[in-house]
Formats: sequence, structure tokens, C-alpha cells
Amino acid sequence: MSNLNLNILNSIATLTFDREGSSANIFDRGTLDELDALLAEIEGVGALTGLLIRSAKPTIFIAGADLKALSKAKGEELKELLETGQRIFNRLADLPIPTVAAINGACVGGGFELALACDWRVASDASATRIGLPETQLGILPAWGGSTRLPALLGLPKALPLILSGKLLNSVAAKRKGLVDAVVPVEHLENHARTYLKRGKRRRVWRPLLHSKPVSSFIGKRAAKDLLAKTRGLYPGPEEALQVAVDSVSRPRTVSLAAECDATLRLAEGPETKQLIRLFFLQEHAKKHRHVEAAPREVRRAAVIGAGIMGSGIAYWLSTRGVPVTLQDISDEALAKGHQVIANLYGKARSRHVVTATESARGLDRIHLASGPVPLGNCDLIIEAAVEELEIKKKIFADLAARSRPDTILATNTSALPIHELAEGLPHPERLIGLHFFNPVHRMQLVEVVRTASTSDETLATGVAFVRRIGKLPVVVRDSPGFLVNRILMPYLVEAARIFDEGGDPEVIDQAMLEFGMPMGPLRLLDEVGLDVAQHVAETLAVAFPERMKVPGVVVKLLEKGFTGRKGGKGFYRYHKGRSFPNPKALRLRSGRSDAPANVQMHLAGLMTSEAQRCLSEGVAATADEIDLAMVLGTGYAPFRGGPLTFNPQSP
Ligand code: NAD
Repeated sequence: MSNLNLNILNSIATLTFDREGSSANIFDRGTLDELDALLAEIEGVGALTGLLIRSAKPTIFIAGADLKALSKAKGEELKELLETGQRIFNRLADLPIPTVAAINGACVGGGFELALACDWRVASDASATRIGLPETQLGILPAWGGSTRLPALLGLPKALPLILSGKLLNSVAAKRKGLVDAVVPVEHLENHARTYLKRGKRRRVWRPLLHSKPVSSFIGKRAAKDLLAKTRGLYPGPEEALQVAVDSVSRPRTVSLAAECDATLRLAEGPETKQLIRLFFLQEHAKKHRHVEAAPREVRRAAVIGAGIMGSGIAYWLSTRGVPVTLQDISDEALAKGHQVIANLYGKARSRHVVTATESARGLDRIHLASGPVPLGNCDLIIEAAVEELEIKKKIFADLAARSRPDTILATNTSALPIHELAEGLPHPERLIGLHFFNPVHRMQLVEVVRTASTSDETLATGVAFVRRIGKLPVVVRDSPGFLVNRILMPYLVEAARIFDEGGDPEVIDQAMLEFGMPMGPLRLLDEVGLDVAQHVAETLAVAFPERMKVPGVVVKLLEKGFTGRKGGKGFYRYHKGRSFPNPKALRLRSGRSDAPANVQMHLAGLMTSEAQRCLSEGVAATADEIDLAMVLGTGYAPFRGGPLTFNPQSP
């Protein structure tokens, strides 16, 4: 198979990555061997003045190493794969002629390590261009020279956050951080890249002071402390990456590359890495899996009903993805507030260089505010995100059915209400679906696509395709109380509140779950969600599952005192001037005086596992994998543990 081709014109060699029969370029064994052979050919041609590396794919430069092969390879086989990549990238770096990577599209992992082995990097300003080293997110580290070359290029302090976070940057951010030398419109990319060849080989910047042993080890110690605060020592990947990167600046290249390789071999055996890679493949599956045979319909225009927290968040996200949206609310005030929220989100995205000023202005233009019942005949999809009241939602849907086309898909963002009850009385119940976004919409990747007994295959296919189109990941769930994520989370939250009520220290309870690997403790999460909202969801679930779910008495007492959680400044915690501490008034409301039980962590985690098992046996989601993925994406459930159905509370 051909993955690469070489062309020589006017003494400049051009290597084009163009994987046959695929829309993506990846580094598998065959591609590495081809690259090796073509580099040998280039070495053999006299009188070349430069090498340009490019991709023929419209949205991908090189998407990284072949993760399937990498995850299957063990021991000697993995070592050989890593050393082969390192040797070939060294060959590229050691060419006597100047080299430049012309980057358009995803330039990720092994793809960026290839670009790092070039003298120069020029990127297109296309929105598909994403650059970085995400290996630590998979539990490993950049081991084709990335952990060594990035610190050499940027200096240790700038390289470490990129390696340790595994974040991908757009081209403007990549230029600001020094990952690329220039950003140009895609149509000028190759011409501009060629001008860099005239600069000759890049001179290595020596940083004798910054990269001296004492300074680099000081930087390393400080970064290790920050890292520990973030990962709580649960993720060996970034820890190993940190050590290799810190040592790299005072070691010869060969020694540092050997350290990259050794660390990867150790990490690949770890259970954390296996789970992180498994979750990566589950996400890839969620991006593509076909749930039904029916073809999805195109959504050209959407409407969102309700401009509160969720409605404005959804309208913003849709507009960022190029979908024109009508945002409707009965309250002018809510509409104005919603619009302000959206403008602020665009403002933040602009200041972080996620969008340009023009894109932000165009995005805002795609949102049309409506304070009255405007005709919605031009909408293909309408998402209802009004207050969580069944009767109000029923009225809204009756009205929407009258104002939309007979083929418009109607969706609700309800957190827990039974969707089939909303379908009753609708002229086309087969067009009703749940699209349950999570808060904050622009950050949370998961959307539960809820199918009722009457939802048609075409509606389901359209819902799933739409969620993917807007860059979110769908999990298809059955219409049942709390759907999947809230249902699994609720017994855990309720029990945490009960332990608090019995006299448990909120910080001890929350700390236990932080150490388990949750991004936030359960009581803090209740404060974030809002105690009123949590009470609402708990009430719905308590009706459905009275034997094991009830509204925690202490939450009722807190609400009676006017404590709604973070939004009101007081809940389980008191929030003041950016700081928080246990709310003394909430502590006094507790009915008992006993400490949190010693095994609180396993006890609380076990509740999520038990509820997840019930959801699986009831068919709320089709597979254990989907449940695990939904909990990781929807709640931040400790990814290295693989999800509640992979975690075994009996043998943690
Ligand atoms: P919110 O109270 O912030 O906003 C609701 C908005 O709906 C208000 O602006 C209100 O004026 C408007 N509204 C009320 N009746 C209306 C009508 N007849 N027509 C148009 N607009 C109307 O509520 P929210 O937190 O954004 O929640 C909205 C929905 O999303 C609820 O069903 C909720 O359960 C669900 N949800 C909320 C969260 C969350 O974390 N807040 C997460 C997921 C889902």
C-alpha cells in the first residue's frame, strides 16, 4: 500500500502523506518503513536545497501513531516499534538540507513529533488545524522524540504544560506558544513554507542557564507539585513524562530517547493506560457506530425554546458549529440575559484565540432572538430547554407541533421527566426525542440521545447524526427516569448527603472521592448543580425507585434556609470572594454527630457501580462500554478506573 510519495522539483524534495483509501494519515508500521526508504532516497540525491513535508488530505496532516497496533504491541515488539520511529525521525532531523512541515489539519502525537524533527513548521489557519502531543491523556508519553524535542525547541517551562496536559492547540495558539513558526491562509501554505527553506538549517537555541541541572530540576520539582495537586498521583503517565522531559534538557539525545522508550514500556503495562486507551477507542466507536439502519435527515436550521442556563448554552454551541438558531423565551429579561451569556462565551473564546473576531461576529449573527411565538416552519429541529415542569413542557410541545412543519424533529433537554408523557397528544410522537445536554454545554462532550417507545428510527438516526455534527458524543439511552447518567449519579449524591446529615465532615466526604479520582466531591457537585435542581431530579427518581432513592432530608432543610448551592453563595459550602469553606449554618442543620464511615470511598463508588449494573440489566443503554463511557464523559468519573462497570468495589 502506498502512504507517501516523493516528488523532486527545482532541487526541492516534497514528501506527501496520502494514505491510500483513507481520509486520514496515520503512522503505522508500513508508513514508517516507506518514510525510512524515501529518506534514504533523499539522502542519495545530491544538490537538493530542501525538503517540504505535506499532506494531501483536506483536514488531516498526520493524526498520530496507529494506536491499534501500538496498544496490541507488547514488550520487545513495542520497543522495536518505538525505536524504529525514533531512528527514522532522527534520520529526518539529521538530513543536511533544511526541512519544513507545511501543516494543514490535525497534526497530533506522532504527526507532531515528525514536524518537530523538521527545522521549520508552518501551519494553515484552517479551523481543522490542531497541533499537540496528547499522549499523556492516553496514559503514555510522547516517545518518538516529542518529550525530548519539544523542551529543546521551547525551553522546559513552556514545553512542560503542553506535554503534561496533552492539550491540542489551534494554529494561532500554537504560534503564540512557539510550536510553529508561522500561520498563513491555507492557499499560501506551501509557498510560504518553501520560503523557510531559504533560511537553512535551524540553529539550536542553547539555554545554558535555564537548562542547567539545578535550574531544570527546580522547574521539575515545582511542576511535579502542581501535577500532583491535579492528578493526586493517580496517573503515572504525566509523572513519567515530566521526569523524561526534565532530564532531556541535560542529556544527550540518544540517552533521552532511550528514556522515552523505557518509560513507555513501563506505562504500557499499567492498568491505567489500558483503561485510558480503551476509553479512547470507545469514543471513536461512539463517533461512528450506527444504531439503526435509517438514514439521518439533514438539520439546516434549529430552534431552542428557553434561554436559561441550558438553552443559551445550547444555542451558543449550535451557532459555533455553523447552525443558525432561533432562541425563544417567554421572558424578555431571560432572553436578554441569555444573549449576554452567549456574547460573553464568544468573548472568552476570542480572548483564548479559539475563534477570530469575524467568526465570533458571524456566530452571534446566526442566533435570532424571539420573545413571542414566531413561526418555526423553517426549522428542522427544535430543542426545548424550558423549566423542568411536566405540564409546562406539555403545553410547549403542543404549541411547537402547531408552529413547526409536520416533519420537524422535536427534542427535549429534560433532565429526568418521562419523555413518553410529553409525546402523548402530539400529532407525530415518532418525531419526539430527548437530547440531554450537560452543563456547561460548551465543555461537556456527552449528549444522551433518549429514545421513547414511539421514536422512529429516522428521528433517532437524525438525533445521533446531529449530535455528532455539532462535535459532541452521543450515547443512546432508553426513556426511563433520570436516563443513564443522572440515575447512576443520584444514589451516590443522595448517600453523600445522608452521610453529611449523620454528622460527616463535608471536606472528608469530598476528599475521599477526589482521591478516588472524581473531578469534584459529591457535596461540592450538589452545590454546583444547585440544590433546587438536584432536589427536582431526586424527586423524579424517588417516585420511580422509592426503595432506594429519596430526596435527602438535609437538602430540603438547606433549601428551606434559602441555601441553593454555589449560585446563591451558600449550600454545603459557603462561597465568598473566590474561596469556599464548609457552611457553618449547614453544619448545624445536621441531625447526627457521627463521623463519615472509614470506607466512605468504596461505599459511595459501590453505589454507582450497583446502579450502573441495574441500568445495564434493564437495557437503559445497550452495552456496559456505553455506560462506562457515558459516566466518564458526563460526570468525569475517574477515567483511569475505566467507568463504574469496570471498577470493582470488592477488589478496587
Ligand atoms: P432555567 O431556569 O435557567 O431556564 C429556563 C428558561 O425557560 C427560563 O428562561 C424561562 O423564562 C424559560 N421558559 C419558561 N417557560 C417557557 C415557555 N413556555 N416558553 C419559552 N421559554 C420558557 O433552566 P435550565 O437550568 O436552563 O434548565 C432547562 C431545562 O434543561 C430543564 O428541563 C432542566 O431540567 C434541563 N437541564 C438542566 C441542566 C442544568 O444543569 N441546569 C442540565 C441538563 C438539563
